[in-house]
Amino acid sequence: MGESAEKAKPKAVKGAEAKRLKREVLGISDRRKHHTRKATPLKAHTREPNTQHRLYRFRFYPTEEQAEQLGRTFGACRWVHNEGLALRSNAWEQNHVNVGFAETCRALTGWKRAEETAWLGEVSSTVLQQSLRHLDQAYGHQVLVVEDLSIVTLLRAARGKGRRRKAKLNEAIFDAAWGELLRQLRYKCEWYGRTLVIVDRFFPSTRRCSACHAKGPKMDVSVRERTCAECGVVHDRDVNAAVNLRDEGMRLYWLVAAGLPPEKKAPTVIKASELEECLLAA
Ligand SMILES: [Zn+2]
Repeated sequence: MGESAEKAKPKAVKGAEAKRLKREVLGISDRRKHHTRKATPLKAHTREPNTQHRLYRFRFYPTEEQAEQLGRTFGACRWVHNEGLALRSNAWEQNHVNVGFAETCRALTGWKRAEETAWLGEVSSTVLQQSLRHLDQAYGHQVLVVEDLSIVTLLRAARGKGRRRKAKLNEAIFDAAWGELLRQLRYKCEWYGRTLVIVDRFFPSTRRCSACHAKGPKMDVSVRERTCAECGVVHDRDVNAAVNLRDEGMRLYWLVAAGLPPEKKAPTVIKASELEECLLAA
């Protein structure tokens, strides 16, 4: 009697016991990290005997009205994509802020409410958000910036006997290593659909103040910290140079990316010294 009453009213398991059960159900019976756990191989999908597979192919012939609606949708997508891109690049150029997907979605709501762009409301919002998502994937956080290094600034002159020969050798070793690194970076960027921006070697990444962009005096390599004479900000030498490089890299990137039609991806490599060719090709 007591047993059947219990069965009729199952009590929810709570607390630590519930947690343990959930882990068990999800196949994570203990707290070991994911990478230390062995993967459970999936059971191969076996076809039922006598199963027939058929392929159907459809072609969609829109009516005049449907064609009109589709045309409106494509137009709105293009508009939203371009406007989203402009918003992001302006935010970066003018205020150095990264505008993400969520913010562009909020902007979209605003555009739909605005009188002159109220026509966006006639199109499915899911589709419009999708084009903002594509924009995010195409242009968000996927830029790698490097400095086109010059051996003169990097290599101190070789000392002692045979100085000339040593210097030549250093140069050759450096050129080969740097070339190989660039080749690998380029390859990885191509593979992952990212962009490598190579900032010009004459760009004053160390001398420029990353806060106010004032150009300071030349600095010996031994000087690790500097106070900007213009704005008074104290900079760590390397951090300041890195911020300058990032900003300059993003500026070059947007310069090229903003001129691209929505269906075109940013190039794999943007080289400051070949920027004109890059802009022409886009
Ligand atoms: Zn400054």
